[in-house]
Amino acid sequence: MDGLFELVDAIGTVVRPDWMADAVCVDEADPDIFFDQWKVIEAKTACLRCPVQDSCRTYALNRLIVDGVAEEGVWGGTTLEERKRAVGVGHSRNADLDAEIMRLVGMGMSESKIASVVAVSSRQVQRVKAKAKARLAA
Ligand code: SF4
Repeated sequence: MDGLFELVDAIGTVVRPDWMADAVCVDEADPDIFFDQWKVIEAKTACLRCPVQDSCRTYALNRLIVDGVAEEGVWGGTTLEERKRAVGVGHSRNADLDAEIMRLVGMGMSESKIASVVAVSSRQVQRVKAKAKARLAA
């Protein structure tokens, strides 16, 4: 996973934020899972047991918002598409996000964990669940 975490500053020095030293993915047997579209759940599961998940997700979001760099792969339990949606790059918060939330609900994930994974508030997750329930009742 070294390649993922290598950032080079203006004079060519490799720079890594301190939290990366505790990253679970560094010791992952198959680091490619973080970049394989067919292994997203596997990668997200690894992120769930990572002590630096919040720092990692915030880092990837900041790279997108501040630097305009779309890091590929799963970072902090989120895919690039989810991060783009979260910051409104190329997507609006729309039916795609609701569908992803309901997919994770269907997997039995808790509201707080879903909120963390798709970078929304728990309240947003509750609203989406309530909307889906109302649709089913109609
Ligand atoms: S949250 Fe996931 S991608 Fe980020 S450091 Fe931890 S295991 Fe790696």
